[in-house]
Amino acid sequence: MRAAVLSSHGVDGLAVAVRPDPTPAPGEVLVRVEIVGVNQLDLNVIAGRGPGTAAKLPRVLGLDPAGVVVAVGAGVDAARLGEAVVVKPNIACGGCAACARGREADCPAQTVVGVHRDGGAAEFVAVPAKNAVARGDIPAAVAAAAVHSVPIVLNALETAGVVAGERVLVTGAGGTLGRAATAIAAHRGAEVVAASRSVIEASELPEGVVSVAATDATALRAQLSERHPGGFDVVIDVSGNGPTLGAGVAALAWGGRAVFCAAVSDRSLELDTLDFYLRRKRLIGVASADYAQVRRALELVAAGAVTPLIGTRYPLAEIGRAYRGFADSPPGKVIIDVR
Ligand SMILES: [Zn+2]
Repeated sequence: MRAAVLSSHGVDGLAVAVRPDPTPAPGEVLVRVEIVGVNQLDLNVIAGRGPGTAAKLPRVLGLDPAGVVVAVGAGVDAARLGEAVVVKPNIACGGCAACARGREADCPAQTVVGVHRDGGAAEFVAVPAKNAVARGDIPAAVAAAAVHSVPIVLNALETAGVVAGERVLVTGAGGTLGRAATAIAAHRGAEVVAASRSVIEASELPEGVVSVAATDATALRAQLSERHPGGFDVVIDVSGNGPTLGAGVAALAWGGRAVFCAAVSDRSLELDTLDFYLRRKRLIGVASADYAQVRRALELVAAGAVTPLIGTRYPLAEIGRAYRGFADSPPGKVIIDVR
């Protein structure tokens, strides 16, 4: 099969090469890949930094392939043959206390497809059967765009316990996670304010969602306290920016919950601890998602409650160009067409 193999760190260490087809081990399925997404984590693997250091080279890249099940390993129901699937990148260990509770997102021993094992930027990929999630009629590109971003924000909203009528602030609302958080919060009947660095056009937002634009955290604090003095029940911060999170926590109402779920660009967090204590605020970190949340997220996509944006598409042969251009690519999920 053809596969995008990283042999040494740096984009120049990446080449599309011919490799033996993988065979599914017991409990695994073999997926014939149609498309795979491009992710920041891939760039970390390529650079050999942060969470990417877990990858041993050579490694086939690709976290979130979508395709069709074409073979099953021992112990896997043969009825899955021909099933349209998308791969949940995070593999829970299955043996810890979090996994036993069905909170696989909180499993401390997770491994990741395309990092700890060969990924799906290839014509075929073998993954644990539980990680190949049925995608029904959802097109492969949409499923790949959704499988990481939508479940994580669903996890954030469910962990915060957002209910209809609550006032929800989404910070970092202009990005992929932010758009998904805004859409799902609105779908749950929340009164949503979407905050971003630049104005988000009303036509890009669900009906009734209000947009706030602030170039930095200081401006955001001022705008929120002026325009929404009553504060928010929930803040979902996907900005990855500590000062923005601080502004969000400051904007919480009595008993408000802030959920932080993004890779971090600026770790500094300024918190008024007396206000945090007296007003009974809560701050929660969320990463990854439970298997059941991935299934619920795909149901929301199928129902049209949230529609991931598709960005630039590249053929597998040009995957290096996709990674080189990733930082400057227009909004939307960058997609590799494998077939
Ligand atoms: Zn576990």
